[in-house]
Amino acid sequence: MKTVCDFCKTEYTLDAAPTVPVKCAVCGHTWTVPPPPRRSPILVFIAALCALLAALVFAVAVLYQHRVTEIREKPLVAELSDVTMDSDENGVMHFVISGRVVNRSDQIYGVPGLVAISYDSNGNVVARQRFMPSATLLDAGDNVGFMHTLSVPVSNIDRIAVELETQGD
Ligand SMILES: [Zn+2]
Repeated sequence: MKTVCDFCKTEYTLDAAPTVPVKCAVCGHTWTVPPPPRRSPILVFIAALCALLAALVFAVAVLYQHRVTEIREKPLVAELSDVTMDSDENGVMHFVISGRVVNRSDQIYGVPGLVAISYDSNGNVVARQRFMPSATLLDAGDNVGFMHTLSVPVSNIDRIAVELETQGD
C-alpha cells in the first residue's frame, strides 16, 4: 500500500498498514496510516446478487424473445390430446383422434385444414388424411377442438401425428 506525508507530500510504499503512527524521513511530520478499505461482506453479497439478477433477467429476456419469434413463425398449433378406438360396420377398429387448434398470437387467424399422418412401426407414412376443425376463424388466444376417425385400420398404425395443413400439402 501507499501512504503520503500530509506535510511535504513525500510518498512511501508500505508492505502493510502500520499499527503505530509513522514519521516522515524528509520533514519529520508524524501521521497515522489508515487501514486499507476492506470489502464489506454485505456489499460483496449484494454485488453477487445483482449479477445473478442481471443474468436471470437476461435469460428471461432471451426466452421471451425466443417465444415471440416462435409465435410469429407459428401462430397456430395443432395439439393431439386424445386417441380412442371405434369399430366400423364391419367390426374393423379405427382410431378416433381428438385435440385442439390453438391461436397463440394476439391476432385473429383463419384456421387451415388439418392433416392426420399415420405411421407404421417402421416410421413409414401409411396415410395422410385431411380434415377440417369446426371453426374457420380463431380469435387471439382462442382454440377450437377437432375430432376425426382415421380410415386406416388400427392394426396398421403405430404412431399418429396431426399437423396444420400448409401450402405445400
Ligand atoms: Zn514529510
